[in-house]
Amino acid sequence: MARVRVSPPQSRTEVDRMTTGNAAQAFINVGERTNVTGSAKFRKLIEANDYPAALAVARQQVESGAQIIDINMDEGLLDSEKAMETFLNLIASEPDIARVPVMIDSSKWTVIETGLKCVQGKAIVNSISLKEGEDVFLDHAKKVLRYGAAVVVMAFDEQGQADTADRKVEICERAYKLLTEKVGFPPEDIVFDPNIFAVATGIEEHNNYGRDFIEATRRIKEKMPLVHISGGVSNLSFAFRGNEPVRAAMHSVFLYHAIRAGMDMGIVNAGQLSPYDDIPAELRDLCEDVVLNRRADATDRLLEAAPRFKGDGTTGKPKEKDLSWREAPVQERLTHALVHGITDFIEEDTEEARQQADKPLHVIEGPLMAGMNVVGDLFGAGKMFLPQVVKSARVMKQAVAYLQPFLEEEKRKSGLDQKPAAGKVVMATVKGDVHDIGKNIVGVVLQCNNYEVIDLGVMVSSAKILETAKKEKADIIGLSGLITPSLDEMCFVAAEMEREGFDCPLLIGGATTSRVHTAVKISPNYEKGQAIYVLDASRAVGVVSKLLSETDRGGYVKEIREEYVKVRENHVRNEAAKRRISLATARSNKFAIDWASYTPPKPSFLGAKAFNDYPLAELVPYIDWTPFFQTWELTGRYPMILKDNKVGAEAQKLFNDAQDMLKRMVAEKWVRAAGVVGFWPANSVGDDITLFTDDTRKHELATLYTLRQQIARDPSRDRAHTALADFIAPKETGLADYVGGFAVTTGLGEEEAIARHIKVTDDYSRILVKALCDRLAEAFAERMHARVRRELWGYAAGETLSNDELILEKYRGIRPAPGYPAQPDHTEKATLWRLMDVQNAAGIELTESYAMWPGAAVSGFYFAHPESHYFGVGKVERDQVEDYAGRKGWTIAETERWLAPVLNYDPRTVREEAA
Ligand code: SAH
Repeated sequence: MARVRVSPPQSRTEVDRMTTGNAAQAFINVGERTNVTGSAKFRKLIEANDYPAALAVARQQVESGAQIIDINMDEGLLDSEKAMETFLNLIASEPDIARVPVMIDSSKWTVIETGLKCVQGKAIVNSISLKEGEDVFLDHAKKVLRYGAAVVVMAFDEQGQADTADRKVEICERAYKLLTEKVGFPPEDIVFDPNIFAVATGIEEHNNYGRDFIEATRRIKEKMPLVHISGGVSNLSFAFRGNEPVRAAMHSVFLYHAIRAGMDMGIVNAGQLSPYDDIPAELRDLCEDVVLNRRADATDRLLEAAPRFKGDGTTGKPKEKDLSWREAPVQERLTHALVHGITDFIEEDTEEARQQADKPLHVIEGPLMAGMNVVGDLFGAGKMFLPQVVKSARVMKQAVAYLQPFLEEEKRKSGLDQKPAAGKVVMATVKGDVHDIGKNIVGVVLQCNNYEVIDLGVMVSSAKILETAKKEKADIIGLSGLITPSLDEMCFVAAEMEREGFDCPLLIGGATTSRVHTAVKISPNYEKGQAIYVLDASRAVGVVSKLLSETDRGGYVKEIREEYVKVRENHVRNEAAKRRISLATARSNKFAIDWASYTPPKPSFLGAKAFNDYPLAELVPYIDWTPFFQTWELTGRYPMILKDNKVGAEAQKLFNDAQDMLKRMVAEKWVRAAGVVGFWPANSVGDDITLFTDDTRKHELATLYTLRQQIARDPSRDRAHTALADFIAPKETGLADYVGGFAVTTGLGEEEAIARHIKVTDDYSRILVKALCDRLAEAFAERMHARVRRELWGYAAGETLSNDELILEKYRGIRPAPGYPAQPDHTEKATLWRLMDVQNAAGIELTESYAMWPGAAVSGFYFAHPESHYFGVGKVERDQVEDYAGRKGWTIAETERWLAPVLNYDPRTVREEAA
């Protein structure tokens, strides 16, 4: 979701087309601050062995939008291998950092190899080149391939670094041939770096470096469409060190052109880029002259003007509210209202347009669509953001609602139906799943582009989806889901589509879905049509418009099909390369806690306690706002995001709207909060946790089953293979330990409140309310956890932490949730529900996929030991599946179904081999 948007003014469709073969990724930005050669701060931290602070640098990169982090430890006085190994191992146990891939950056091959050994997921090597000839190049490439990593190839050969476009292209082509023909390297795992050199240095030969890069990029992408093109952007403006506004402007101008030419990756400081259109026109032209080498005196002119731009940032002041737009002709007023999301005058303007039109329908087809096209173009060009588009939709819907009676009247007179929409999309959140904010946003954005959207809501069965699609003659079906069991349900829907003879495209989206899952698991079930992963709402329009365009469809589907074949092959290769250790070996290396020196604290009560009608106002200060902005595809950490160069203004408006809405929701009690908390005597027995009815520990009450990590790790590091059970005192210690559980919701009455308070045309407010309910539920979990530590369990009675510190989880103990990385088995929620009678005590139900309803709900376990921590179980092997099945009394097939997302093997292959 996070990415830099540099506002290229073409439509989204073009942006997607540029990145041929990889429609889901427009531009990937690589975080550069974890680099000892590039950041003095980071170097000092590593030299001082302050790894926690160094980790914080990595985390900050991810939070501010880096989709890959570049790690470089090349410093003469450092033991670079050791530093790389230590740092990568630390990252691996930080889920919020480890979710982005790592770029192992070194000029020393040994450091790269050390890095490759530590990284768990797919890594990117930065870099190899033909500098030392073909033999070394091939040797390194083969090793990279064996580790399943992608590779950055510098345009560098025996003669040196390529400077002209011709040389760049020639070297990249030579490297490409070697990689694909001699090594068998997948083209999509090759990233070319054609060298960005400094321009405007005063040396005439340097003047064309910007153009050379852009031109080379264009030609490389033409000849080798599947590869990626990357570069270190800050080099470009080296001559203007100390003048950040000019540097930022040069980078934006450069990226604007390079991205259009096919650059799809870059090491950039995302926070420091100015949107292309926000650069003062004069500065922009001066930079463009330099970057594109458009005139001989370009450097002199920029040098001369540069000091004038130095002090002042590049962003203009926000405009004062003025109503001069009201004097413009009606079309302009409608467009203005749509673009700015203003509903104040929409009915009178629509009426005026209606009086001028022959037919009411012409108002929609004419002026309103013209206005929406402007919105679509601005959004496609990255100049408008999702909250604005959803507000535009609100204006549009209100206008259409105003026209509705006239349209009906017209229909009665002429008997004619309305003009068909550009295409019909049937959308649903799949059976067993209840989450729909993302899907709702996609629906609104599609409607803005004149597609008809039939939204079937949440928990929709395959039969209902397909029946509706047939009845409505849908052009496209879209499925959404948030929790892992929905992945399986999506495979089922795909298979049903195949069986029933569908051939329309199937779009896949939602938090746990991915391109790899779509390609590997869903797509093969639906050969007659094509399943396509859609990363986020911003991409949906581009994908749908290509799928519905007579001219683009065939080529696009073919492209996706080919891409997915590659993804599947790659996946198989990567998985085959990953070895896990046996369950027995993992158990012998469990997370060891020194129980002899530990006295477990006793909770203030045992059993469950309900908290009904919890005061909402008490929860508000505990809200973590950062995910709220993510929901709207605004990337950045709160509160800094409000000051962000690019999205700050819109983030602030959205935040203000959210505050107003939240005040009303709390004051007028739109929703009810309810929760339940419980504690039980507990001891671990192997990988399970036994709960007892009371402190005599004679009678067992329930068992919590946990899963253990089986990742094969570098043995020298001696890192544990953890299971949640390791955090509870084993039975044989004789310690009286405890475990807790909770389930909370703030979604009681949510649907009713929306129906009562929000206009049907107002999607913006509806989505806002839903997103706020979700935030309140997380805040409730945070608040309850604080009360547990300070009072209900009471092991940290003196704790005083700020909300920021709570969000950073600086407290003792954890509250892992079933279905999350430390316990991927969603069905463990059933035990919680039984133990605490959650359904009656807090009004939260479980669906057949173990999603909670209402959706604004959180549940989990409490662990109190100071060394307990979040981790990811990762993939598990068949031996653990068999063991787990035995413990839970499940069949193997059942176990494989619930653990499908974490299996390190394909059950079908195992069954075929057995047969
Ligand atoms: N402050 C954030 C919290 C997000 S994480 C917000 O408001 O959205 C939310 C919850 O996910 C945690 O409180 C914990 O219950 C669960 N969680 C996070 N990482 C986990 C892991 N590795 N294993 C199990 N549960 C995890």
